[in-house]
Amino acid sequence: MGRSINGRVGRVAVVLALPIALTLTLSPNPVLADPSPQAGQVVPDRLPSTDQNGVALLRIVVPDQDAVDRLNSMGVDLAEYKKPLDNGIEVHAVLSPQEAQDLRDQGFDVRGAISDQTDYAQNQAERKSAIMSAEASADETDTLTPLRAEWFTSLDDQRFLSVEVKSSATDAETVLTATWDSGPKTAPDSGGTATMSRFTDAGQYMYHRFSAPLAITAAPTKVTITSSRGGSVTVPVAKWLGEKRKPPSRHYVEDFVDHYMDPTEVTGRISSLARQFPKISEIVNLPNKTNGYRRAAQAQFGTAAASTFYVTSKAYGSEGGNDIGVTLTQPAAASAPLSVAVAGKNVTVSLATDASGAISSTARQVVDALNADTAVAALLTASTYRGNAGAGLVAAAPATKLTDNLKAPASVSRDPFQMKVLRIGKKRDGSKVGVFLYCQEHAREWVTPLTCVETAERLLRNYDRDPATRKLVDNLDIFIMPTVNPDGGTYSFYDYNMQRKNMTNYCAGTNSGDPASRNSWGVDLNRNFTVGSFFDGYSGASSSCTSGTFAGPSELSEPESSNEVWLTHQYPNIKFAMNTHSYGGYFMWPPGAYKTAGRELLPRVDFGTENYFWDASTHILSAVQAWRGTGIWPGQTGPVPDVLYSAAGNSADEHWFNRGIIGWDFEVGADVYNATTKQFEPVGFQPDFAEGHEEAMEFANGQIAILEVARAFSDDKDRPKSKLEVTGRTDSSATFTFSTDEPANVYYTLDGSRPTLNSPRLAAAGMREGAQQITVGKTTEVRWFAVDIAGNVEGNYKPDGHSNSYRKETVKVRNVR
Ligand SMILES: [Zn+2]
Repeated sequence: MGRSINGRVGRVAVVLALPIALTLTLSPNPVLADPSPQAGQVVPDRLPSTDQNGVALLRIVVPDQDAVDRLNSMGVDLAEYKKPLDNGIEVHAVLSPQEAQDLRDQGFDVRGAISDQTDYAQNQAERKSAIMSAEASADETDTLTPLRAEWFTSLDDQRFLSVEVKSSATDAETVLTATWDSGPKTAPDSGGTATMSRFTDAGQYMYHRFSAPLAITAAPTKVTITSSRGGSVTVPVAKWLGEKRKPPSRHYVEDFVDHYMDPTEVTGRISSLARQFPKISEIVNLPNKTNGYRRAAQAQFGTAAASTFYVTSKAYGSEGGNDIGVTLTQPAAASAPLSVAVAGKNVTVSLATDASGAISSTARQVVDALNADTAVAALLTASTYRGNAGAGLVAAAPATKLTDNLKAPASVSRDPFQMKVLRIGKKRDGSKVGVFLYCQEHAREWVTPLTCVETAERLLRNYDRDPATRKLVDNLDIFIMPTVNPDGGTYSFYDYNMQRKNMTNYCAGTNSGDPASRNSWGVDLNRNFTVGSFFDGYSGASSSCTSGTFAGPSELSEPESSNEVWLTHQYPNIKFAMNTHSYGGYFMWPPGAYKTAGRELLPRVDFGTENYFWDASTHILSAVQAWRGTGIWPGQTGPVPDVLYSAAGNSADEHWFNRGIIGWDFEVGADVYNATTKQFEPVGFQPDFAEGHEEAMEFANGQIAILEVARAFSDDKDRPKSKLEVTGRTDSSATFTFSTDEPANVYYTLDGSRPTLNSPRLAAAGMREGAQQITVGKTTEVRWFAVDIAGNVEGNYKPDGHSNSYRKETVKVRNVR
């Protein structure tokens, strides 16, 4: 892997990086929990967004993370997208018109469809002038710590600037302004100037950045950041991405997907590939079948909430539930009793009448009568509407068939789904480094399975003639799971396109068991894992069965998530994993969750690994960029909670913390910059296929680059080299740090003892910062060694042996005598 120095402005000579993909999502989805229907009316179905008057992806601007959490707890269906604005946070939610109105009534700022953009630059300017004129008089000068300063290109070679700086003053009154030049030997302010945004999360100040990268015309060499509190710092601007890649060979073929594919097609496709390439691939059948694309059948009677009830079949619709019928009759006689009769699969309720012959049966009475009849109870269960007491009078109704409401063609199986993984490699005996690429944990993210399929096709169809592909297939053990959520995926294709979760219904018997709630059922598979989970008290998941981030009844309750874990246990040679989601354009790694109180994170990765991740990200994201120019923002690269939010119980944390698998997350679908409006525009879950195709192609590039990173790891025999650098000295102390020529951890001692893997380890100075500075109060002999992520030790030193071949150097304090 390249030894790129990326934009981190630190003292580490080299930053490295690897990628990870986690998933983060914050999405709650369900219908606003247990809505008390207004005016006692029942709530209409949430229809696909393609239907008129259906749901839409709308923007909501909230002041802070607390408000996001509130939306979460209300069960609002949020996208995996969160954009910091200068005055709050923009999230996107899938809402019906009624739900949007409910939120507005509760004071939420629900705006238009996602193509709208607010002019927050104007807000920034207003804020700046207001605060600056009010009091430029802060008493204490703050200290600015530059984190990253980079320029990069994206589509159409448009250039962008991204800067991250941390102020020692964490209050909201502190305003930072960035000024940059327009190239070598130009005036320091010739490039432009802009106010920075204050990035906070879970109530904590993180750092300042631009809310989105700034479009610029010339590549700057330096940027100066000044604070309203007096602090100032000038740093060089590095180039982000654009690592030179070897062009593919003349024979290289790509572009194998030409339409969105449902899970049945995708699974058929990889099965067919395994048949065509039996020497270098095979299908692994996963042990846990899904619950299946199937539902109980239901029918609902009534229009006002108090007089409404619904019935739910005992058998799945596909297994007889759809054949059940219910009729509500009004007897011609007065003072007739309520009675129930069953003939075959037809249930007839003869409603009670009063002395005048009018119907006198309430919803509650009908429900009780149905549930009390053993012949009926064998067929179905009756319920009042969303917990209503059911005091309203029921109306007669003609024979009504129950339905599971599933619309996929009969060619789509209703049985439990056999999930499959395509295993690619010349030597598939566990001796090669394993890489696990998985897609579509979330059903509605239609581009992601295409990405996995495209990667598989490229590997298999280029094997014979492309030497670079042969190296990957010959030296790695590659596991591709194109759809982790086949049932939900099918549902998203045929029934409700905004479906995120799987299809398992844990709402039966609750106030959300009625048919109109059905698009909110299911478990968020990427919240169902065991590390940093909702059940452990971590943030970003829900216990509500209708929430978009419903964690399930327990950790690993779902067959889909259990299958992922099974695979990594079954094949312990798996060392890398990539969890591909949509949308927003992110590249992330663990940790991926925190407890909201105190923002208590799962442990961060060590400094050497973090540097390896950054280095790998340069390689992987340069490959993504190579397809059509898309530059994933440096500000959307990093540990999940640093750039997005907490995602309790996600799969990347599971793989990393439980098995040491480097678990990365992609969010495909980067915002597209509109040069006319000068705004970034979100692409959504299911862009038109022309855009979806490009996203699949560029992130298949990224997946191939992950394999290159894994191969470099498996081949890595290079021993790291390190340097001790004294950075400050006074009469009574000296300060130093270390740098390494590749991502590596440095272990050191200050007491003259032999350094081992239990000695102090060089850490980062802080989030997104370079190496820490170490201070000694007297002249000290420092002993140390470096070790890279593949385990190669500097100078072939044996930390657990007895040799003295560690590094050593004396750090002198000035005027020592
Ligand atoms: Zn997702």
